Amino acid sequence: MVVQTIVDELGKRAGYGDVIPVIDPVTEEQIAEFTDGGAKAVDEAVARARDAFTSGVWVGKAPSERAKILWRVADLIDDHAADLAELDSFNTGMPVDQAQAIMGTAAEMFRYYAGWCTKINGIAHDIQMTGGVAQLFSNAHGYTLREPYGVVGLIFPWNGPVFNWATKLAPALAAGCSCVVKPAEETPLSAMLLHKILDEAGVPEGVVNLVQGYGHTAGKALTEHPDVDKIAFTGSTEVGKQIVAAAAGNLKRVTLELGGKSPVLIYDDADLDQAILMASMGIFIHSGQGCICGSRIFVQRGVYEQVVEGIAGVANGLQLGGPKEENVHIGPLISEKQLKRVMGFIDEGRKDGVEVVTGGHRLDRRGYFVHPTVVTDVDPEMRLFQREIFGPVVAILPFDDDDEVIAMANNSSYGLAATAWTNDVSRAHGLAKRLEAGTVTLNCQMVYDHAMPFGGYKQSGWGHEFGREGIEAYLQTKTVYTKI
Ligand code: NAD
Repeated sequence: MVVQTIVDELGKRAGYGDVIPVIDPVTEEQIAEFTDGGAKAVDEAVARARDAFTSGVWVGKAPSERAKILWRVADLIDDHAADLAELDSFNTGMPVDQAQAIMGTAAEMFRYYAGWCTKINGIAHDIQMTGGVAQLFSNAHGYTLREPYGVVGLIFPWNGPVFNWATKLAPALAAGCSCVVKPAEETPLSAMLLHKILDEAGVPEGVVNLVQGYGHTAGKALTEHPDVDKIAFTGSTEVGKQIVAAAAGNLKRVTLELGGKSPVLIYDDADLDQAILMASMGIFIHSGQGCICGSRIFVQRGVYEQVVEGIAGVANGLQLGGPKEENVHIGPLISEKQLKRVMGFIDEGRKDGVEVVTGGHRLDRRGYFVHPTVVTDVDPEMRLFQREIFGPVVAILPFDDDDEVIAMANNSSYGLAATAWTNDVSRAHGLAKRLEAGTVTLNCQMVYDHAMPFGGYKQSGWGHEFGREGIEAYLQTKTVYTKI
């Protein structure tokens, strides 16, 4: 019911560019279409956001009032969780129960940042410099103001539409910014309902503006726009670099949550049943379309065969299918483009001599389904080992000692996440220090908390989301001096 309403509304939205089809990755059929907003819709949205910011309709509200509205957004996300899950599941093909489980975390993101609205403050300071010219400053007092950047552009990928939206919107609104939001062109649906939720919760008109369209049209126009103060982007490292270049025009601030090629280290003293299960789910869940998926697994030689066999066994037991099918664990890849990309990496690996232990093929049915794939005999210099595949493909390599595995794990331009499985506590914390990653999980995987910063080392990103750092990303500091 909600799906049809949203599909109709999407189709009726005004736009200025090409008509963009939305394809169901389960059936490969078109399920909706919309008109690219392009640069013109971006111009209009930025103007509305600027007016809203200048008028103070949001930034000028008492922080406690902003907090109440964000809390209402959270409650409404909870109220509409089933509808939102249906939309994301319909659009991406992921199982409905998995989509629904994510909705609660999106609501909690708003509750967490609602709490920050009343805690944004600077420091006060009596001038302490002495001697020389500093005499002039005596009897002065200084303080800082934390102020929102102004108009921010938020650009999302398709892999978790509602969650990604909440991750940026909640802190941006808590900080007092006005926003222009561009979802991925593959997943325009749930954002439509989320923006109704913002209206219903009482976010004033013009504060959040939705633009639907392609990256090379609407996304590019947003990043180049001279009246946008900051871009917060989640997506691929390649596009992240284009965004940095485009943002240089007016030196707008940029935060980036980018790709990963996360290593998982499994030692022979680990709880192997747990490690095998979690490492398998850590790459195959959502068909490997998660930024922190552990796509390189390193196993200590003594248990190597056992772990390879175990992970291949989990892979073979996973049931793939669409949201309307029974007993499904994993949905499809999002698009034909992704399917070709993933199969391209597998075929290239085969030519380079890797052993495909299981998988390595798409399913013999309609839809962009790739069998969970385990490969061994991988050379660390291969593209399959170095590049983010963003599909259900894992390379498993053996290692002997800490130095060897750390060198292999850190041999990557990415640095988003890393995991170690070992019952040796000292070793575990030693590894946490040596692994070049923004998040390290020890004897657990795919863990996060709203209150803990999340961000990438190396080419996995700039800045952080979640926690105090998440709101700092939308605030700038003004220093004020006053003569007493
Ligand atoms: P993508 O980079 O192709 O697109 C992301 C968004 O950027 C889309 O909205 C797209 O329309 C837009 N875009 C494309 N070109 C643009 C341009 N020139 N200027 C401005 N915007 C442009 O990524 P994707 O394929 O949608 O998502 C998958 C990628 O996202 C993976 O690399 C994954 O690792 C990454 N990701 C990272 C995180 C994280 O938190 N680090 C989370 C989820 C996904």
